[in-house]
Amino acid sequence: MKSALETSFKNKKALIRVDFNVPLNSNFEVADNSRIKAAKPTIDHVLNDGGACILISHLGRPEGKDPSLSLKHILREAEKCLGRKIKFIDDCIGQKVESAAEALLPGEVLMLENLRFYKQEVLGDELFSQKLSKAGDVYVNDAFGTSHRNHASTSTVAGFFNEKCAGLLLLKEVDAIGKVLKSKTSPVTAIIGGAKVSSKIPIIKNLLSIADNLVIGGGMAYTFIKSKGGEVGKSIYEPEMIPICEDLMLEAKKNGVSFFLPKDVIAAKEFSNNSKTKVIGAHNIDENWMGLDIGPETEKYFASIILKSQTILWNGPLGVFEMDAFSGGTRAVAISVTEATKKGCFSLVGGGDSVAALIKFNLFEKVSYVSTGGGAMLESLEGNTLPGIAALL
Ligand code: AMP
Repeated sequence: MKSALETSFKNKKALIRVDFNVPLNSNFEVADNSRIKAAKPTIDHVLNDGGACILISHLGRPEGKDPSLSLKHILREAEKCLGRKIKFIDDCIGQKVESAAEALLPGEVLMLENLRFYKQEVLGDELFSQKLSKAGDVYVNDAFGTSHRNHASTSTVAGFFNEKCAGLLLLKEVDAIGKVLKSKTSPVTAIIGGAKVSSKIPIIKNLLSIADNLVIGGGMAYTFIKSKGGEVGKSIYEPEMIPICEDLMLEAKKNGVSFFLPKDVIAAKEFSNNSKTKVIGAHNIDENWMGLDIGPETEKYFASIILKSQTILWNGPLGVFEMDAFSGGTRAVAISVTEATKKGCFSLVGGGDSVAALIKFNLFEKVSYVSTGGGAMLESLEGNTLPGIAALL
């Protein structure tokens, strides 16, 4: 895969697929600009190399043209983050777009309207992709967060360019994931949490050939505990996944992967921050109680594994961290990950909720790399080549 750093942009127009799918508040202002900032290095590189940038992105999931999801709403914030003026056209294909792109001078930036105003975008439509390609001379994909989608702007469009390359953010993401997947620095510890085990089966399967330690927490731990004959009370668990969990644990044993489940939990009567709680053995949760966080003994147990690791992947919270009463386990694990990182371990954190947890606990800057693409990161870790990356090969 060619990098933007190996591409000459002099007097060329770069059609850059960025991920400006940012949250907007009720006044249509950008609530979190981190994705815009993350695209800056590639845009700066193209401009400094004598090129012009045509930025394309989706925003939300519009059904047809939806003014509330116009990329016009993020124009001002993008100008602030990039420190330059940006021209805007209220379409992403057609004569108006082609003329504006044609008139663009080196050093200038043009942003096009939300790609998903056309349903052809998500269908990966050939004709739409061809029209989209008319705006640029070189295609650059810097939208790692949408590279697991086989959409027109992330995949099909690349086929209409002689010159195509990966943006700097996309390369950084691929590099960070590669460090985990091809890690030679053992022990490799994967910490997987979150609500449902069913959504994490493929990633756990793939990790069985990569990790030395698999640390399981969150709601998904209860299906494993149940499959080992434990009593989980009213805790969230998926009965139909029990045979799969049994197989995963057998496979881990065969592969020499150590499997760590919570020893104790914070159980609650109600799914509420104000519920009555108690610390209880993870395998002996009383009827009518539910485990909503890992307990203090488990925090120490998991910390001892994390602190001995050289490579860490963390995806998914260890409890219902959104409620303060059940955020302690996720916070403790986050702190352990940052302490291991301080000692020289490489730590990759990804997936919406783990990133939200790092932000909540003010620990975002203290891990080695935070992935901007939850779904794309998980699919990469499942061992798949993402369509947006395959299109650049
Ligand atoms: P996921 O999207 O599968 O990574 O799940 C994230 C969600 O899992 C968060 O909203 C957490 O509140 C939730 N979660 C974590 N632990 C538990 C638990 N023990 N019981 C119920 N939900 C949980």
